[in-house]
Amino acid sequence: MNDKKRSEILPGVGCEVTACKYNTVDCRCSAARISVQNEKANSKSETYCSTFCPRGTC
Ligand code: SF4
Repeated sequence: MNDKKRSEILPGVGCEVTACKYNTVDCRCSAARISVQNEKANSKSETYCSTFCPRGTC
C-alpha cells in the first residue's frame, strides 16, 4: 500500500527523502514534528533527520 499522504503536512518543511514513510508525493513531510540532530555538525552533510523512518519498517 502506498502510504504517501497529502494530509497533515508539516508546514515549511520540504524533503526529497522518498524512502521515508513520512515523505509525501510532493516532497514534503507528513510527520507531526521532526528532529534534526548532530550537535557537532559544521556542514549540511553532517546534519540528519532523526525522525526518518524507512517505509515498511516502523
Ligand atoms: S521525517 Fe525527516 S526524512 Fe522523513 S520526510 Fe520528514 S523531514 Fe524527510
